[in-house]
Amino acid sequence: MNITLLGGVNEIGGNKILVEHKGTRIMLDFGMSFHTAYQYFSEFLQPRKCASLRDFFEFGLLPDIRGIYREDYVKHMGRPAETRDVDAVFLSHSHADHAQYIHFLRKDIPIYCTEASKIILKVLEETGSGRFTDFITMCEAFTFKPAARGGGLVRVDRRADEYVSERQFHVMQPDKKVKIGSLEIEMIPVDHSLPGSCAYIIYSDEGNLVYTGDIRFHGYHEDWSEKFVDKAAESKPRWFLCEGTRIDQLEGSSEEDVKKELSKIISKAKELVFVEHPIRDIDRLKSIYLAAKLNDRHLVISTKQAYLIKELGDLSPVKLSEVKILIPPKDWGLICKQGIDCSLLEKDYASWEKEFIQADNAITCPELQKNPKDYVVSMSLWALTELVDIQPKNAVWIKSSCEPFSEEMELDEERKKHWLEHFKIKEYSAHASGHASGKEIRAMIKKINPKELIPIHTEHPEAFV
Ligand SMILES: [Zn+2]
Ligand SMILES: [Zn+2]
Repeated sequence: MNITLLGGVNEIGGNKILVEHKGTRIMLDFGMSFHTAYQYFSEFLQPRKCASLRDFFEFGLLPDIRGIYREDYVKHMGRPAETRDVDAVFLSHSHADHAQYIHFLRKDIPIYCTEASKIILKVLEETGSGRFTDFITMCEAFTFKPAARGGGLVRVDRRADEYVSERQFHVMQPDKKVKIGSLEIEMIPVDHSLPGSCAYIIYSDEGNLVYTGDIRFHGYHEDWSEKFVDKAAESKPRWFLCEGTRIDQLEGSSEEDVKKELSKIISKAKELVFVEHPIRDIDRLKSIYLAAKLNDRHLVISTKQAYLIKELGDLSPVKLSEVKILIPPKDWGLICKQGIDCSLLEKDYASWEKEFIQADNAITCPELQKNPKDYVVSMSLWALTELVDIQPKNAVWIKSSCEPFSEEMELDEERKKHWLEHFKIKEYSAHASGHASGKEIRAMIKKINPKELIPIHTEHPEAFV
């Protein structure tokens, strides 16, 4: 078996692992390296779509290999047509550092993942504002079509249904191995800070390979991670691709600790409580929901979170009917104007969020202002302008996310501090990492006991020695 690390080496994320065995070629994850991307690009200096893959190849954001990239991009950059040279991609979860570059893959490469991972990608595609988000469907780029009137050609855009196609997604079930050529692949759910996260065991006649994806042992699904370790040990792996985000750190807080800490802070709060957290970490949302409930408060979520929870259905531990949905003013801001017809109001919102405007549990900023003691509000740094409408008094802000790890994040944090100072909001923190601690990683390796250990997703591979 040949294992080529095309990303995720000496860095946290950007995992792209090519596994080759007797002519079978599979890829484990196809993520974005934040580190490399931020080295060369920023908010206002982005890789160009018009350059197709060239800007990405130039700085090694994408590996320059044949047979994996989408045909429209390959053609646009003047490369000769290629045939498919990877049999499948196995996705560990839908965080951008593992899944973002699916956008660039050929549409005939099958993608295997969990049901929740597929739903999250669908939601990201529908609600995301970023470019390069052809995750579930693919719209042919750089293509012209005959004009409806007057002859000539027009450009194809997303609305032209005949040029939009579905990618080949395959939802995996635990305990059901998938056979790809000479390999058999088993998916095992693990605990991490995103629903649908999983690890893989790849069986071959030359020995087995275990891949953790991103994993932790201190969330609500610790038992899943433990079960994975047992299964991985049983497979007596020859190779172990082990994530090591926090290999250099000892123990940390658990999700249960976070819930308790949140509850403690909320119990002392006099008026509104805002919680800043990774918006798609539904287990964290569950902690916030439970902490709010313990203090007789409602959890208020954003329309994006509402849409994700709705799409996840039974896979979400938080039910939509149990929370309030904040409808912020958008576009013309008609939501808080009296006597506006519903059809006019709807025009302010994206198609996926329209359904929440009239929901029984929808609320608006004036309600938060009127009854601040009744709510705990899930807040993102991109929604700070809502504070202007709420005009909070004696409010509390709980940072329930990781510390900034890039210059841009540090600037965001600095800017947030100004907002909090302006509204005299006091800040607290309560967080648990999505990744195993050094102690947890060591125990996992000891139990799995592979012949060869390959550190990935870590800035400290030397700590594995
Ligand atoms: Zn990751
Ligand atoms: Zn992750």
